[in-house]
Amino acid sequence: MTLDIPFDNTYAQLAPEFYTRQAPTPVKAPRLLAFNDALATLLGIARGTDAELARVFGGNELPRGAEPLAQLYAGHQFGTYNPQLGDGRAVLLGEVVGTDGLRRDIQLKGSGPTPYSRRGDGRAWLGPVLREYVVSEAMHALGIPTTRALAAVETGETVWREGGLPGAVLTRVASSHLRVGTFQIFAARGNTEALRSLTEYAIARHYPEAKGALGLLRAVRDAQVELVSAWMSVGFIHGVMNTDNSSIAGETIDYGPCAFMDVYHPNRVFSSIDRTGRYAYGNQPQIAVWNLAQLATALIQLEDDPESVLEEATEIVHAMPELLEDAWLRRFCAKIGLREVAEGDLELVSDLLEIMARGQADFTNTFRGLLDGTARDQFLEPEAFDVWESRWKDRLSREADPEALMARSNPVLIPRNHRIEQMIAAAVGGDYAPFERLMDALSQPFEAREDYADLRRPPAEDEVVQATFCGT
Ligand code: AMP
Ligand code: MG
Repeated sequence: MTLDIPFDNTYAQLAPEFYTRQAPTPVKAPRLLAFNDALATLLGIARGTDAELARVFGGNELPRGAEPLAQLYAGHQFGTYNPQLGDGRAVLLGEVVGTDGLRRDIQLKGSGPTPYSRRGDGRAWLGPVLREYVVSEAMHALGIPTTRALAAVETGETVWREGGLPGAVLTRVASSHLRVGTFQIFAARGNTEALRSLTEYAIARHYPEAKGALGLLRAVRDAQVELVSAWMSVGFIHGVMNTDNSSIAGETIDYGPCAFMDVYHPNRVFSSIDRTGRYAYGNQPQIAVWNLAQLATALIQLEDDPESVLEEATEIVHAMPELLEDAWLRRFCAKIGLREVAEGDLELVSDLLEIMARGQADFTNTFRGLLDGTARDQFLEPEAFDVWESRWKDRLSREADPEALMARSNPVLIPRNHRIEQMIAAAVGGDYAPFERLMDALSQPFEAREDYADLRRPPAEDEVVQATFCGT
């Protein structure tokens, strides 16, 4: 009996220039580490035995209806165009339409080499697989658009990085894996026909109401505005906002050296490879605009005379910073209990952030602390906070029931870096209790549960994670 997945594939029907057909490479001893039952139900997947799930999501057995392929794309990495990337360690098994009527990709990540692997081994190790599993599901529970995690399987093989590490495969679920870089590659190659069919495909799949290439551009812009402002509101740093990691569907994708900030600072960077701070916390809105400009550059190639749409495309991109600022302010006002943005609120929010940076305040605990009266404790020099607080209280007196708004705008729990590192270290040693506990706690990030109080604590001095790694 093989596992029943109701595949309904569309990408595999596109012309062959978009992908290479590629089966996952079987692994030595697949063992199921985690399976997301709620997501499986949404996707209409009937749960098999653990052994069956391990075989399918480890890549040893192809479920009926799967048409595995590696997708082709390019992208700007740290601002430099790389003319060919593509799934180097992932294969798309196929798509399913969930019980909610939405179409999603099911992709194995770490499933072996593909024609796009370059010098990579096509594999992943346990650490980044569990990290993506926890962080992407936490992101979903926070209400932020994201790819999801369906399964994690240990391979029984050793992956060589800094040393030998246990290998694993993640099953990722996404609204699609269309990236800005998917458009860039065909535009750069002057393949207008492919670019046109990709544009039509993206519109039909994600934004059926959008009119033409510029309609798509506008829709992607609006989705990215919501996404990046949502990241900002929870202190999330993606870490590698390359155009190949920028989703057309507006989901958080490619969890690499990402991190949630503990102590707030706008220039915060975690990624060990981001030496210039291009993808620092506070730069993310600007980078989202830059990435959209790359999409615009690709899409205007569809016109016989790109100059004819240049002005309109430019307007769409140029409107983005203000849209981002508005969305950002709306979210931060909600965090401090303000339903509508009024005169002076921008200054109120900005001043709080400024004293937080100076006072080395914990981002998550300060905002949640505004609700439960512990915000002051987060500051090195609380006097600056006292001054701000009285201004805030004045402003708040004009609001009805700000507590309810604040309670749903300020999570109690985020996946803190030190907890993730501790969870990975335990898992490498065979102990999955911290993983299970984190998953349970983070499934309700807005609940202040007594038994998870320890997960609210910022890292102790010896627990601080200074840098995160791609860990590919
Ligand atoms: P990422 O930084 O994870 O977005 O990956 C950038 C590119 O490198 C993508 O084309 C990946 O498929 C590829 N890549 C990353 N890790 C590996 C690996 N271990 N083997 C082969 N390709 C990889
Ligand atoms: Mg990537």
